[in-house]
Amino acid sequence: MPTLELILLGTGSPIHQPHRSGNAQIIRGGEINVLIDVGWGATVRMFQCGVGPPQIDAVFVTHLHSDHTTDFADLLVMRWVGGITKPLRVYGPEGTESMIAGYRQALEADTRFRFAHHGEQLAPVGTECDVTEISAGQEPTEVATIGEITVKAFEVDHRPVMPAYGFRFERGAKSIVISGDTNACPGLLNGAQGADILVADSMNKKMMSALEDNLRSSGRGLQAALLGDAHTYHADVKDAAEIAQQAGVKHLVLSHVMPSILEEQIPQFTEGLDGIFKGEISVGHDLARYGIE
Ligand SMILES: [Zn+2]
Ligand SMILES: [Zn+2]
Repeated sequence: MPTLELILLGTGSPIHQPHRSGNAQIIRGGEINVLIDVGWGATVRMFQCGVGPPQIDAVFVTHLHSDHTTDFADLLVMRWVGGITKPLRVYGPEGTESMIAGYRQALEADTRFRFAHHGEQLAPVGTECDVTEISAGQEPTEVATIGEITVKAFEVDHRPVMPAYGFRFERGAKSIVISGDTNACPGLLNGAQGADILVADSMNKKMMSALEDNLRSSGRGLQAALLGDAHTYHADVKDAAEIAQQAGVKHLVLSHVMPSILEEQIPQFTEGLDGIFKGEISVGHDLARYGIE
């Protein structure tokens, strides 16, 4: 069994696509499974990868954009009916507590109906969560220890989304870093130092501009404008490669892939990156797995 394993559940963006779900990933180390972000489709992908909601020990939320959070409702119900008896540990930025309270409130009638129908077979815990709102600056700060995995948070630049964090997961000398949604910034550079794997927010701005031109010429001006706005708060693939090189990362995994490319577009998506980053580069896809021995 690898020291740390990364499973990409969702590698897409807010706009739904059949082949890339909303952002979510699992990091495994020993008996521990940690979920980072819970974008749309995450729960289905968990069943597909064989690590179900009841097996998740803790959840870390990078920021409160919908493409990172909206599967919380399904996760909480599937965990409960899967037999879990303890609240789910959730760590996230300021606002996480009220967001979770909102999802739980939306499930209030469902929870009541299931208790009424199934009685004591279901644990009293219901959809309860144990939420910790974290804070961190540009230096990685330890925020939790889950089993043998130490978790550090660092602030990233996804303005106007504030706060927004990236996370570094360490087990022994091995590390996996999740950038969260961000531009290249000092926090990410510090957080990614020497990482075995960096999972990086990645937008190919040239391909995005071409997509926006197509949308505009087919009369979908609003969609083109919204995508155009997204350029300001996501790293271009070249910036992600630059940060990975500066930080001495071993393996760069491009995720939060925008535009939502197909397999045959990977060479275009990654064009020129091998001249910037000298390590291994992968373009993530849903259910991809990467182990570190
Ligand atoms: Zn975002
Ligand atoms: Zn996002």
